[in-house]
Amino acid sequence: MPTPDEPMISFAGVGKSFGDNHVLRELDLSVDEGEKVSIIGPSGSGKTTILRLLMTLESPDSGMVRVDGSPLWDRRADGSGVDAKRQSEVRRKIGMVFQHFNLFPHMTVLDNVTLSPVRVLGMGREEAEQRAVELLQLVGLEKHLRHKPGQLSGGQQQRVAIARALAMRPKVMLFDEVTSALDPELIGEVLSVIRDLARTTAMTMLLVTHEMRFAEEISDRVLMFDSGSVVESGPPGQIFQNPEHERTRRFLKAVL
Ligand code: ADP
Repeated sequence: MPTPDEPMISFAGVGKSFGDNHVLRELDLSVDEGEKVSIIGPSGSGKTTILRLLMTLESPDSGMVRVDGSPLWDRRADGSGVDAKRQSEVRRKIGMVFQHFNLFPHMTVLDNVTLSPVRVLGMGREEAEQRAVELLQLVGLEKHLRHKPGQLSGGQQQRVAIARALAMRPKVMLFDEVTSALDPELIGEVLSVIRDLARTTAMTMLLVTHEMRFAEEISDRVLMFDSGSVVESGPPGQIFQNPEHERTRRFLKAVL
């Protein structure tokens, strides 16, 4: 367990390259328990890589990542590493919603949401279904339990993906540009579900988003990211109305 003042997520000196492409450089970053943090910045700057490292979909080359008081990655020169079993226990505290929903197309909405609680957490089917129905009510899709993802709109599929991630009762939720594959008229319904979650849950939330107004509205803190490092970090009012760095000003001018 973390000590009271230990962050929920911390990156210390994390480096990540793909070949010659140095995507993250000595990255230090921390997110407190319950904090809602948005990461903004230009495409290709390494934002998604941060989330993928937390999901153990990528591995860092150097540095240390801790979640809820336990190491998830230890790639320090003198580090001892993290064994696979402990890593998967820590990783299980984190849920992620992807840009492209990633639902199982051959399974019903209900089965998509119950699969991991039953298989991974060993929850009984009845309990998992009851919980899935509650979560599908939360995202406004209780009428679609028996439908397959292909019968739903993109916005509805993304809301199922949110319910599916929540079904694992994560302490941390990651959202990776979750509206960027949606038609403009479907974006609002997905943002509204996330907005309600941000207001009502104690979960820690880390979002990569191009929706600047949304980031401004729901975040406790915004991180401006460029070329693998945090350019500046602060409350949304500061970052959007009074950014300190020229790089942030230029970025916001281009996107707002
Ligand atoms: P962002 O989310 O800010 O757009 P990403 O983290 O997705 O940035 O990507 C950062 C850089 O890393 C980009 O140049 C991207 O092409 C590269 N990259 C990401 N994932 C891979 C991968 N699996 N293999 C090779 N290059 C990758």
